[in-house]
Amino acid sequence: MRYFDTAVIGGGVLGCFAARNLRRWNISAVLIEGESEVCTGITRSNTAIVYPGYDNQPGSLKARMTVRGNANFGRLCKELEVPFSRCGSLMVSCGPGADGVLRKKLENGIRSGVPGLELISGAQAREMEPILTPAVTSALFAPSTGTVNPWQLGIAAFENAVNNGCEPMLNTKVLAIHQSDDGYLIETNGVPIACKVILNCAGLSADKIQELLFEPSVRIFPTGADFLILDQLARKPSRIIFQESEEKGKGVTAVPTVEGNLLLGPSRRPLYGRPWATALEGLDFLRESTARVLPGVDPNQVIRSFASVRPNPHRVVLRDGEYIPDGRPIGSFVIENPAPGFWSLIGIKTPGLTCADELGMYLAKQTARYLDAADNPAFDPHRKAITPYRNHPDYHQIICQCGRITRGQILEAIARGATTVDGVKRRVGSGMGRCQGSRCAWEIVKILKETGANPDPMF
Ligand SMILES: Cc1cc2nc3c(=O)[nH]c(=O)nc-3n(C[C@H](O)[C@H](O)[C@H](O)COP(=O)(O)OP(=O)(O)OC[C@H]3O[C@@H](n4cnc5c(N)ncnc54)[C@H](O)[C@@H]3O)c2cc1C
Repeated sequence: MRYFDTAVIGGGVLGCFAARNLRRWNISAVLIEGESEVCTGITRSNTAIVYPGYDNQPGSLKARMTVRGNANFGRLCKELEVPFSRCGSLMVSCGPGADGVLRKKLENGIRSGVPGLELISGAQAREMEPILTPAVTSALFAPSTGTVNPWQLGIAAFENAVNNGCEPMLNTKVLAIHQSDDGYLIETNGVPIACKVILNCAGLSADKIQELLFEPSVRIFPTGADFLILDQLARKPSRIIFQESEEKGKGVTAVPTVEGNLLLGPSRRPLYGRPWATALEGLDFLRESTARVLPGVDPNQVIRSFASVRPNPHRVVLRDGEYIPDGRPIGSFVIENPAPGFWSLIGIKTPGLTCADELGMYLAKQTARYLDAADNPAFDPHRKAITPYRNHPDYHQIICQCGRITRGQILEAIARGATTVDGVKRRVGSGMGRCQGSRCAWEIVKILKETGANPDPMF
């Protein structure tokens, strides 16, 4: 049995930021993650946008956290040495219905304190982004919108949490939770854990984790989403483009990523057999809606497609022994506190990435108050990124030709916890160029094996 003040369940971006922020106080913490590495769930597959905050109901927790999270993102990324681009965004409309929605969003944004918002004409939008269709009638310009690599951000927060004393328990699945005299007992597939506080950040399984002990007020009904990534050489806008569609449902979103690619997505569709596999209908939707709004984007420049899973939270009714969604969408963040010392984030969708530090801080503050914990004067918010170059032969040997990633960087990624080709990719960006790892994956497997790792036999 291991003892900690607090156990964070789930090593996605939300769990990693909760763990990091806990260590601002003298609170012993463990981060329990079922997979061999952190940030392999929803955090791995999303739109990577740091939202400005005009989409949310003014005055709501979501709106406040988004505007504050966005404002603090530059500082956060400096502390963690993660690339962040405040590229700005245009939400474009192509008709009177959508023009009206943009005016409403402008009003919301002003009420929420989103800086620099401007409603501009279609001609002005095309001057800013000549790649847009001439059919654009108006656009909402938000200079504070940005983009970040989501898994790099999560991994950086994880490394910083560990450097500040949080204990990582990877490959550790939570199987059962019991109440004890002074807190909780967690059964896992490894050592059991005793703790005073549980922070449930289990993403798609957060409702099931809470259900191990308490009835959740909402349940997750997942749906699917698809994305396309275009080559760095493809023509792209310099800002993020959102489309407010005339018809029901959103149009495409186009993101010029920090790596220099164009990311298109997400689609909206049901979840099929294999949750993380792409679906034809989603990919077709992305191609068609991109052609309508960004006719200058060449669909033949796609180098990768990937899927995601939306953790949609719903209140439920029980019918014939089965939980059925009650049909009303939940617009706010669901933060449950069913018993003293137990908090759950359930079904945190967009803008969870933007608010990761805010949500993590919220949980850490609740915990510190509950435990009456003192500040931790030794907390260091800084984390060093993997060095691109050192004067050592390993840093002269390029392994990933597209990204010019060296053997030295790959060895450093492995030393920091990468155990798979994907884990190396998420730390140094190998395999993200035009060839998508077809030239370097085998080389990386060899390096992983040299260091004693046992990577996926597929590679
Ligand atoms: C399609 C899509 C696009 C999005 N785009 C944006 C965007 O552009 N901007 C933005 O701000 N937000 C966006 N979001 C929201 C954001 O991505 C999420 O809010 C965020 O990534 C959720 O992180 P998480 O830590 O909750 O989940 P995850 O990353 O899924 O992490 C949960 C972790 O819990 C672990 N776990 C589960 N069960 C157990 C168990 N029993 N034992 C141990 N570990 C367990 C899992 O292995 C997993 O690693 C998007 C979301 C989606 C779905």
